[in-house]
Amino acid sequence: MSFEDHLARVRARVPELTVEQVRAELESGQVVVVDVRQADEIAQGRLEAAHAVPRGLLEMLLADVAAPDQRVIFYCAGGTRSLLAADAAARLGYADVASMSGGFARWKTQGAPFAVLPVGGSADVEAGRSGPDVRQVSPASVTGDVVVVDVREEAETQAGYIAGAHLVPRGFLELRIGALAADLATPLRLVSSGGVRAAWAAVDLERLGYLDVAVVDGGMQAWIAAGRPLETPRRLNLADRLRYSRHLSIEEVGESGQLRLLDSKVLLMGAGGLGSPAAYYLAAAGVGTLGIIDSDVVDRSNLQRQILHADDRVGTPKVASARQTLLGLNPDIEVIPFHERLTSANVERIFAGYDLVIDGGDNFPTRYLVNDACVHLGLPCVHGSVYRFEGQVTVFSPRTGGPCYRCLYPEPPPPELAPSCAEAGVLGVLPGIIGLLQANEAIKVLLGIGDPLVGRLLHFDGLRMKFRELKLRPDPECPLCSPGATWGGYVDYEQFCAVSL
Ligand SMILES: [Zn+2]
Repeated sequence: MSFEDHLARVRARVPELTVEQVRAELESGQVVVVDVRQADEIAQGRLEAAHAVPRGLLEMLLADVAAPDQRVIFYCAGGTRSLLAADAAARLGYADVASMSGGFARWKTQGAPFAVLPVGGSADVEAGRSGPDVRQVSPASVTGDVVVVDVREEAETQAGYIAGAHLVPRGFLELRIGALAADLATPLRLVSSGGVRAAWAAVDLERLGYLDVAVVDGGMQAWIAAGRPLETPRRLNLADRLRYSRHLSIEEVGESGQLRLLDSKVLLMGAGGLGSPAAYYLAAAGVGTLGIIDSDVVDRSNLQRQILHADDRVGTPKVASARQTLLGLNPDIEVIPFHERLTSANVERIFAGYDLVIDGGDNFPTRYLVNDACVHLGLPCVHGSVYRFEGQVTVFSPRTGGPCYRCLYPEPPPPELAPSCAEAGVLGVLPGIIGLLQANEAIKVLLGIGDPLVGRLLHFDGLRMKFRELKLRPDPECPLCSPGATWGGYVDYEQFCAVSL
C-alpha cells in the first residue's frame, strides 16, 4: 500500500477538526489536547493547554495524560502526523479521538493564542517498559544488506548511532520510509534506545505493507554493549537547530554549512558604519568568531549610522560597545575586541588565525596595511567604502584570481589630494547597504558558494538607485601580488586624514 492510500484510509477513520472547533472544545473543558510533534518543534511554541507527547513516545506516555474514555484531540505541525497518531491511539483503545486539520501552522496563522513552554523529560522513557511482540534480531546479526533505521529523537542520536543508519525520528517514519525503502521487501531493522519505540514503529511499518521488519533486540544499549560500530558525526545542538533553522532549510547552507560558519573566524576592520551592519548580521548568521579592531570611542555623531552602538555608551570604546550588542543578539559566538590602532607592528599578531577580513576602514594607512597583510597571509578581503550617497564593494582575493588593492592603487595619494576630513559626509543608511553587501560576500566566501565579487567592483548610487559593475583585473606588475613580486614588509603611511565614515 502506498503512503497516500494508507493516509486516505486513516482519514476515513479519524475525524478532522477546524481550528475554530478545537477552540470551542477547549472552552468547554471536556477535552484533552495532545501535541505529537518532535520535542524541538514543541519547544518553539504550542497550545497552552496541550500536553507534549512526541509521536515516538505516544504508546508509552499517552496513558499519563488521558484515559481511554476521554476525548483526545491530536495536532502536529501540518495535520498529517496527528492523523496517524490519532489512529494509533484508537488502536490502543481510545474511543473518541480527532485530529486538528492544518496543525499548529494553521492555528498560528488564524491568530489563535499559543505559549512557549518548556518541554520536560529527557530521561529514557523506554526503560522498564515492554513493547508489542515483534520480530527481534541480535546486534551481531545486523550486517551488510539491511536498511537500519534509527527512530529516536534527533537529540538522542547526537551521542552516536549505528554506523550507516538512517536517522528518522518516529514521528516522521511513515512520511519518509518510502524514500528509504521503495520496495516493500526491503529488509528493515529498526532501533531505538531500548527497543520499545522501535517495536511500536515496526508494527506500523508492517501495517504499511513492509514484509521484512525486525527490531534490534535491546536497542542502542545492547548495540553499544556488544561493541558494535558507532558513528558520531558532528551535529548542531538543539538550540542551534532552532536558531539557524532558516539556514538549515537552504540546501546551499544546511547543517554542514552552518557548522562551517560556526567554525569560521572573521576579522572586522572597524566597528563603524560598515563594520556595524556587517558584524551584526554575521553574528546573527552564526559566524563563530568575530574579531573587531577599532581604537575609537563611541561619539554621538556615530549613532546616525553605526548601529552597534547606543546613546548611553557614548564615550566607551567602540569594540566594547560592539561586543555587548553582538553577544546580546547571539551569546554563543565569540567576539574578540582589539582596542588598538592597526600598525605594521601588530598587524600579523591581530590577523593570525582568521579566515577572512572585512575592511570597513576609514583611512589610507590602514587600508594598505589590511591589503598587504591579507595578500601576505593569503586571506580574502571584503572591501567596502562609502561617500555621501555612494558606495562600493569588492572582494580582493589574489589567490582565487582577482586583483588586490595595490593592483588598482599601488601607492596612497599624496595628502594634498586626499578628500578633506571636513567635507566627508554620508547618508546614514548608505553604509548599512554596503556593509550588508560585504557580509553577504563574506558568507559566500566562507561557504564556498555562489559567485563572489572577485575581480568585480559593485558600485551603488543611492540617489539614482543604481548598481553598476566594473571589471577589475590583476596588475601583472603589482608590487605585492604579482607572481614576480617579492615581499618587502609592511609600510606605515603617515596618518593624514581620518574621515571616520
Ligand atoms: Zn595586487
